[in-house]
Amino acid sequence: MANVLQNIPSVNELLERPPLRNLVERVSRTTVVGGVRHFLDNLRHDLQQAAADAEMPSPGELAERIAQWITADQTPNLRPVINATGVLLHTGLGRAPLAEAAVQALQDIGRGYASLEVDVATGQRSQRQADVAHILRRLTGAESAVVVNNNAGATLLALAALADDREVIVSRGELVEIGGSFRLPDVMEFSGARLREVGTTNKTRLDDFAAAIGPQTAALMRVHASNFAIVGFTERAPLEGLVDLAHRNKLLFIDDIGSGALHDFGAYRLGDEPVIGASLRAGADVVLFSGDKLLGGPQCGILLGREEPIRRIASHPLMRALRVDKLTLAALIATLRLHQDRERAEQSIPLLSLLSTPLANLQNRAERLAPQLAATAAVGQAEPFAATTFVGGGSVPTQELATWCLAVTPAHGSVDAMAKALRTGPIPVFGRIQKDRLLLDLKTVFPRQDMELIDAFQRLEPTPNQGDTEEA
Ligand SMILES: *Cc1c(COP(=O)(O)O)cnc(C)c1O
Repeated sequence: MANVLQNIPSVNELLERPPLRNLVERVSRTTVVGGVRHFLDNLRHDLQQAAADAEMPSPGELAERIAQWITADQTPNLRPVINATGVLLHTGLGRAPLAEAAVQALQDIGRGYASLEVDVATGQRSQRQADVAHILRRLTGAESAVVVNNNAGATLLALAALADDREVIVSRGELVEIGGSFRLPDVMEFSGARLREVGTTNKTRLDDFAAAIGPQTAALMRVHASNFAIVGFTERAPLEGLVDLAHRNKLLFIDDIGSGALHDFGAYRLGDEPVIGASLRAGADVVLFSGDKLLGGPQCGILLGREEPIRRIASHPLMRALRVDKLTLAALIATLRLHQDRERAEQSIPLLSLLSTPLANLQNRAERLAPQLAATAAVGQAEPFAATTFVGGGSVPTQELATWCLAVTPAHGSVDAMAKALRTGPIPVFGRIQKDRLLLDLKTVFPRQDMELIDAFQRLEPTPNQGDTEEA
């Protein structure tokens, strides 16, 4: 075994080999030297543990393996992908894509210094959220607004500031878990508020809320059931009734509306989605929602409402821990400015333009792309396929959206193997598998990505990899 260790080539010798020499030019000498040393340390360790007759790869082979290892190590998992799942707000794929204006704002503000907390007219210290609050008030009619890291943070902060050590009454049917183990009851408990559940899973009446109100009650809360639907024998207390009940008892009404539709989304057939303005007009004291769902902006949580509760929220110590940075503010303000003109918003906010693309456009693209995919070596069959999809990301769970897909069967091997190969290419492609076919849903593919999609298929191996046990 000692002999094997002595046979390990030197770092300098390995760096002379073509794969690593080329890598030095593409990456940097320091990175490659560090990578080679790291790899060799691991190799020494492995060889010490291995059997006495363990074999040492040739220097050329070793250099190739190290180059691959360094390349993989240098490639981040976080990179742009083509979302062909059809799910518009896909949490795993980063929810809402940003508008060009928001991306530009990120660049402009991120690249240098910015007047984040300075008033340019007076040179005096200013409020970092003054601008965003101003535009949110304009757009929604709310008296006040404040922005935090996400909607989970908004919930935590609102309850900590408004109901610490007091009771908040919520319907049992709304005690939701939203992906990534965000459980409303846990967040409420963590905030210091005490949860008072009323009603049953499928039915909660106004009377149930009324009967639970006592001297310890601070607020009534409604949570939008954003990722599931209870259908059939159901009853929910009406919004106006809840607001009225809260105010008659001098309590606050907090409305977590989840995805935060700024406009009535009826035009997109998203009729059931609660609209921010409607909740405020009904008299909600605080309305909470995410910035990266239907608003189509960066990740953040937005709290709107009456001046007094929002001021208590903004001055709570947790605010400092949850507040957003200059990049989020820049991207959010740019997105909100686009929303000032609904037509412009539809053209320039990617989520809204994807939602409002006419079905006939998707069909045309599917018909044009199918023969191009079918012509690649890896594809057996590709055809246009009419299907339905969902908004996702905890919005309008039951609303199916009509769409067009490309239904692809591989020339060889399994559809799973093809799906994996597409995910692991230079621009990962994510589709969905249905009955031995890979569906690529054009609802979420930007037209500018059509050629990239074809390229991704052209790059696939025409035959399955060795060791692939699927029948050829
Ligand atoms: C999505 C959602 C949340 C969580 O929002 P994040 O911004 O992901 O933290 C909370 N409540 C409701 C009703 C939601 O739909």
